[in-house]
Amino acid sequence: MRREDRTLAETGETKVAAADYEVLDQRFARLFNGSASVEKLFTGCRWAEGPAWFAAGRYVVWSDIPNNRMLRYDETDGHVSVFRQPCGYTNGHTVDRQGRLVSCEHGGRRVSRTEHDGRVVTIADRWQGKRLNSPNDVVVKSDGSIWFTDPTYGIDSDYEGDRAESETGGCNVYRVDPDTGEVEAVVTDMVRPNGLAFSPDERLLYVVDTGRSHVPDLPVHMKVYDVSGAGRVSGGKLFAVCTEGFFDGFRLDEAGRIWTSAGDGIHCYDPDGTLIGKVFVPEPSANCVFGGQKRNVLYICATTSLYAVRLMVNGLKTY
Ligand code: MG
Repeated sequence: MRREDRTLAETGETKVAAADYEVLDQRFARLFNGSASVEKLFTGCRWAEGPAWFAAGRYVVWSDIPNNRMLRYDETDGHVSVFRQPCGYTNGHTVDRQGRLVSCEHGGRRVSRTEHDGRVVTIADRWQGKRLNSPNDVVVKSDGSIWFTDPTYGIDSDYEGDRAESETGGCNVYRVDPDTGEVEAVVTDMVRPNGLAFSPDERLLYVVDTGRSHVPDLPVHMKVYDVSGAGRVSGGKLFAVCTEGFFDGFRLDEAGRIWTSAGDGIHCYDPDGTLIGKVFVPEPSANCVFGGQKRNVLYICATTSLYAVRLMVNGLKTY
């Protein structure tokens, strides 16, 4: 249950520890099988981020941002290979409703899509004529609109991209219209918007603000916005404050619970905003995605490594 028990990973074994979780609310007890364990699947990244699950191929693609590469974990045999390098310092990825990879690129300062024939095309690289900062994370709504966050982490230094000045002068959440391709700023009140996801009914948009990286007194929190059927965003109230390290990317399960990255692993929030449990990971975690043939395996990108844990819940089906 505790960090001290997680010694197997440090010695290079695959299994980390049994019962590597913490129940903070009894609602979490049904979600994690006590005999399940967090497994380390691959190590050797500098900063692992942006896992995306391809159901048809049974593989996970993720980013190793400072190494400017994307990796692929094949669930059928555990093999890991380089998917693309260089890759434009990709960060977050998702799979759209047609099964295509949609990627945030720090280097290209754009959101791109990998077509079925392998071509990589630009979805968005400017707003009001100005170059984007460095898109960080992305989701696709059921109407085909593409929503992404645009903090400055990829242009702050040469570590995760190419150092440059911001042209937009802000860090916003944007929506790309599925018909016109128009890029519209829909959330403009955040310091460094980061991970984002919709509720199962798509009436709520959750967005993490990691502005503390630049403004030390800020809390690391997740806000929730109301979304109209036409894609209008309103409100924006506090949903949760991170209790350990930083929230970054996150995903929802079928019941609308939020499984978010944090400093000590994955934190699970009930839709009412209660932190109900944790899955401990030996490294600070940056993002996760549900995969496996039943979408009940949570793949976790955590600093140097890709981990997985089998849960008793299923991920929200988004394509
Ligand atoms: Mg992120």
